[in-house]
Amino acid sequence: MTRLSASCGGSGYWHQRADVVVIGTGVAGLVAALAAHRRGRKVVVLSKASETATFYAQGGIAVVLPNALREGGDSVDAHVADTLAAGAGLCDPEAVRSIVADGYRAVAELVHDGARFDESAPGQWSLTREGGHSRRRIIHSGGDATGAEVQRALDHAAALLDIRRNHVALELLHDGGAVTGVLVLTAEGLGVVHAPSVILATGGLGHLYAATTNPEGSTGDGIALAMRAGLPVGDLEFIQFHPTMLYDGHAGGRRPLITEAIRGEGAVLVDAQGNSVTQGVHPMGDLAPRDVVAAAIDARLAENGDPCVYLDARGIDGFERRFPTVTAACHAAGIDPTRQPIPVVPGAHYSCGGVITDVYGRTELAGLFAAGEVARTGMHGANRLASNSLLEGLVVGGRAGKAAAEHAVDAGPGHAVVPDTTTLRALPRAELQRAMTRYASVVRDGDGLRRLAHELEAAAPRKLLSRNDFEDVALTTTAAAVAAAALARMESRGCHHRSDYPDTDPALARSLVPAAACC
Ligand SMILES: Cc1cc2nc3c(=O)[nH]c(=O)nc-3n(C[C@H](O)[C@H](O)[C@H](O)COP(=O)(O)OP(=O)(O)OC[C@H]3O[C@@H](n4cnc5c(N)ncnc54)[C@H](O)[C@@H]3O)c2cc1C
Repeated sequence: MTRLSASCGGSGYWHQRADVVVIGTGVAGLVAALAAHRRGRKVVVLSKASETATFYAQGGIAVVLPNALREGGDSVDAHVADTLAAGAGLCDPEAVRSIVADGYRAVAELVHDGARFDESAPGQWSLTREGGHSRRRIIHSGGDATGAEVQRALDHAAALLDIRRNHVALELLHDGGAVTGVLVLTAEGLGVVHAPSVILATGGLGHLYAATTNPEGSTGDGIALAMRAGLPVGDLEFIQFHPTMLYDGHAGGRRPLITEAIRGEGAVLVDAQGNSVTQGVHPMGDLAPRDVVAAAIDARLAENGDPCVYLDARGIDGFERRFPTVTAACHAAGIDPTRQPIPVVPGAHYSCGGVITDVYGRTELAGLFAAGEVARTGMHGANRLASNSLLEGLVVGGRAGKAAAEHAVDAGPGHAVVPDTTTLRALPRAELQRAMTRYASVVRDGDGLRRLAHELEAAAPRKLLSRNDFEDVALTTTAAAVAAAALARMESRGCHHRSDYPDTDPALARSLVPAAACC
């Protein structure tokens, strides 16, 4: 048993009060914080790091514009249909419709907050296409720097808020029936922010794996925090591997993404012999849903024994102007994408599952909300459609902020009691990432997943002396939940591919929600 106050070297805690605490400063967190602030609530925003996945988003935001049916044949129905098709029978159709239909309003609010998107003609947004989309409906900014623009606009709009950087949320405090605050670690020691409403917007879990497109803070913290509070999580077996992460010979950490929009503009995936990787695999070829393309690459690499495949973008006119972020990443790796194919491999990219919420971000615990990548609203099912996550973060983040603001009024001031003891276990990060990469990647099987679960059971008690310690604990908790979910799903569906169960089982067309459990 680890006594938190003792292990962090402080005899007492600092205390703060707020109506709404938001954990996270990416798209979901800042949109939520602004929504609660604009309803007159005292909002405190916590962030352990300055980097967010939001900043790194490249391709764009999928959204149906008001005049889309007339001009390009797009519609909410078509976007919903594409999302459901990618989700492989596991989306909640009502949740998808609710979020997609609210997309343009949420984007318009972001524009009101200062975001700017690329135009093909004055006043007309330029639309691109990505894998799984039947229409051109992705708005983008700075070519392939959409996330940087979204983050810039939101940072600017939120500049007047009380944002605490280098504050690590360690524990959700609750009285069994309702959330009461957050236990926080800072350089000054431990503290408590008391609040009747808390919004988890902690992003993803890419660092479960040795190589990922995610920033270093994506360590599954929100999932671990919710599980420790006894809340159910769902669809965690569905981790999306982006088909095209830059392969530059380096093995670990955050690796640059090569956006799917490049394939949308005509680039093709070939192996070292110049043969198409996806021909005959799916009618949409290189623009098939991500799991299909990632699995095709994985199979080709296994077959040929090559370290990577190639994205040939040499035919795209004005590549450097349209894709400046990718061009810079390629140049940094000594590759000229206008003259040579770009070496790529699949990489851990996005968590389709998470903390179970409704489309307003409400969890089972009164006063606790979750939005963005940490949440499982039913939008993504077994596989997220490209560019649907910024959309979900904008829509559900705003709704959660509003709902949290309303809840704070109804519930009155919160008073958190800090638990005396907590048992926390962690596997060393490199070991955990090695095991996850080996046993729970693009293709898994029962033997490997059982071995993974066994290795995770060896996690030892860890004192919480630093952010790093807490992240290792969060990674271990989250990895155990992913392994359990992947073992339980004895079929292949969406981005969960089991080599021992290669077919989809119609009887499993539902979320398997294991009971909340925690190490
Ligand atoms: C390279 C890349 C490209 C992408 N491209 C696209 C795209 O084109 N379109 C699209 O729709 N999606 C894209 N995505 C996915 C999308 O960017 C993310 O899903 C989305 O931005 C997540 O937003 P978020 O607000 O949930 O989390 P994030 O933006 O990751 O923010 C998480 C926040 O939580 C904080 N945090 C985490 N744990 C703690 C803790 N314990 N205590 C305190 N703070 C904590 C972090 O510091 C951070 O501020 C991409 C992702 C990546 C990595």
